[in-house]
Amino acid sequence: MMDLHTHTRYSDGIGLIRDNVSWAEKRRLKIVGISDHIHFFTPGIFSKYVREIRTVRDESEIVVLAGIEANITESGPDITEEFARELDYVIASVHEWFGEGEWYRYLEYVKKAIIDENVDIIGHFGNTFPWIGYPPWEEVLEVIKLAEEYGKAFEISARYKVPDLDFIRECVKRGVKLSLATDAHRPDDVGKIEWSLKMLKKAGGSEEDLVFSELL
Ligand SMILES: [Zn+2]
Ligand SMILES: [Zn+2]
Repeated sequence: MMDLHTHTRYSDGIGLIRDNVSWAEKRRLKIVGISDHIHFFTPGIFSKYVREIRTVRDESEIVVLAGIEANITESGPDITEEFARELDYVIASVHEWFGEGEWYRYLEYVKKAIIDENVDIIGHFGNTFPWIGYPPWEEVLEVIKLAEEYGKAFEISARYKVPDLDFIRECVKRGVKLSLATDAHRPDDVGKIEWSLKMLKKAGGSEEDLVFSELL
């Protein structure tokens, strides 16, 4: 199995890249991705980060991927082409807080990320809906359709327990890819993807519905 959303000391996590990979090996994952927050990187530190992931990958028997977690802003995701081309994948997440009833702004942000060519996966979709309000299903469906059109994926976040079953079911039905994600900030949380896996199965999905399924 896989965990494509993990943090290290390169951003706000507490472990080293090799610690995350060790725990992924211990939990018998086939793929682990490192995805630190983009706003912690200068170009120099970013190069060191990617080099370090590649070194750890070469020493590991499992697949170690270099990712990043970008922020979706008013003007779109803050990922640049320069960074994206060095990486195996890019997650884009909404980290901004909106007011009550402003779920439509959240959806607008997500749509901007879906159409951005540097983005591969939308992170923890809907984790703030309990506070900003739940969008009507028709609006959510538009987002899924857009992802279908642009070939983008959504993660099933074990940390935030999102998205919900109907959402995942719709993705499986439409061939929109999914990923399994802990969003671990400490190495011993890497690979705790039971919730994500359970949701994928409940939704009728299988390994073929996951991004990088060819590497599983
Ligand atoms: Zn996030
Ligand atoms: Zn994260």
